[in-house]
Amino acid sequence: MSGSPVDEQKHSARLHQKLQLAEAIRRGQEPLWDVPLRGLKPSMAGEESIKEKQKEGFSQSLPVSYLLDEDDYDYQTLTRALMTLVYEAHELEIDTKADPVELVNRLEELLPELIGPVLRSDHGYFESLSGRLGFSSLALSMVGGALLQPSMIYMASNSNREYLDAWDIKICPICGRMPSVVIKTESGVWRFKCSYCLTEYRMDIFRCPHCGSEGAESKEFLLVGDAKAYEIASCLKCRHYFKIINTNRLDEQIPDGLEDVYTEQLDEVAHQRGLIRLDEASQNGQ
Ligand SMILES: [Zn+2]
Ligand SMILES: [Zn+2]
Repeated sequence: MSGSPVDEQKHSARLHQKLQLAEAIRRGQEPLWDVPLRGLKPSMAGEESIKEKQKEGFSQSLPVSYLLDEDDYDYQTLTRALMTLVYEAHELEIDTKADPVELVNRLEELLPELIGPVLRSDHGYFESLSGRLGFSSLALSMVGGALLQPSMIYMASNSNREYLDAWDIKICPICGRMPSVVIKTESGVWRFKCSYCLTEYRMDIFRCPHCGSEGAESKEFLLVGDAKAYEIASCLKCRHYFKIINTNRLDEQIPDGLEDVYTEQLDEVAHQRGLIRLDEASQNGQ
């Protein structure tokens, strides 16, 4: 991908910032990566119990995260990760006015309450929590999201392909988040890639994930960059778009989970054309 030198500079500065944040989150999650169940209770261990949840979710058209609640988590591990995540957020100066010790104490008290809204990606909850506690909603949602992400990655990596390939809804079948990236795999199959739990799941390239309009003629595909590894696919009816990464044509593979961050330039091109990101509507609470 290329642009003017000024654009390139702005882009690499933003990429650097986002990578720094991703690394900080990873370090903050260390206590969760250190334990096999990533903060879940032993009752959730093993492929069988995850398969059960997937089956239940599939029959109700609900992502697995909607079938979990605060009783499925191990609070000792979560509390350890809470401390390291708040420390990392503090180091990055995400909320310069927040006293980290106070933030940890308040969030520790609120842990059981916090789990449901994170599992159901309830953005409004963090807005109201921010009003209640006086900490920035950005810091609160970053810590909350990071706290449960390893457990969702655990569920995703032990999940059953059969269900992922049969899932017919745009939100992620594991964590319920909206996708923005589609991977074209080596076997020529297109799959949504969730940037939160890393699930790759079924998508129909010729059906708009937003409005459902079908057929190749209702789509526009725009190749971006010289290597032909990136494409923007948009719907002529509703103007929503998603980004396609053709993994075969990449010079260098993108680190797992950072596909959205690395393809930010495609969002700029799409916005210049007046297109709307798939997950934009949900973030605005529509
Ligand atoms: Zn997901
Ligand atoms: Zn559409």
